[in-house]
Amino acid sequence: MSVDRREELTARLSAVRERIDAACAVEGRRPEDLILVAVTKFFPATDVELLAGMGVRDIGESRDQEAGDKVSELAGAIREGLRVHFVGQLQTNKARRVARYADVVQSVDRARLVRGLDTGREAALEEGEVTDPLDVLLQVDLGEGEQAGRGGSAPADLAALAEAVADAGHLRLRGVMAIAPRDLTDDDTRRAFDRLATLGERLRHTHPDATWVSAGMSGDLEAAVAAGATHLRVGSAILGSRPPQR
Ligand SMILES: *Cc1c(COP(=O)(O)O)cnc(C)c1O
Repeated sequence: MSVDRREELTARLSAVRERIDAACAVEGRRPEDLILVAVTKFFPATDVELLAGMGVRDIGESRDQEAGDKVSELAGAIREGLRVHFVGQLQTNKARRVARYADVVQSVDRARLVRGLDTGREAALEEGEVTDPLDVLLQVDLGEGEQAGRGGSAPADLAALAEAVADAGHLRLRGVMAIAPRDLTDDDTRRAFDRLATLGERLRHTHPDATWVSAGMSGDLEAAVAAGATHLRVGSAILGSRPPQR
């Protein structure tokens, strides 16, 4: 069974890499400047290990309990070679815990999360569980007019949120993240990601290290490459379909 799964993941991953290469060729970008985050939510630690064996260095998770359990199941050497990105909606009372096992939290959407993330990371650093501050992206709501956003801070609140993260001693502000509104045309998706890229640029006037732009999933990674994303979060195109989410 694991041989079949290995073959399936190999084929799906290489198809995704081909899409990224093709999009980069169109845009005159270099594929090595893009980080592919394989979103492994709903899939077991064994899939993460298979992907790690295929050169995947970044994985994404969106549900706290599942993510924490999965990360602790990984063999030590595999865990050390991976960057674990938390990309899901984060409850305030879970922030402390996530800050201990994640390397990156991409979904910081309100200042109330900052304290829990910072104290959780501080504890993990003190106990020698981690060696670096927690990398943080600010999630931005790209809803506009009739199009409902899919979570994140209002663009107008971004500057204040950035200050809160930058003032925390154990967090490192790295950039912005967004999910495109549902059911947009390709052109509108591109425009939404362009707005995200512009917000990221603006953030860099005051926070020069905030260079990451995380955008693009299985259905819209080409638009994200075109808009200058640095990180793509791809789940189902690599792992297959998962049960419908709330
Ligand atoms: C699940 C998820 C993804 C991956 O979505 P796919 O459409 O399966 O590629 C990306 N980003 C976030 C925040 C997610 O929750």
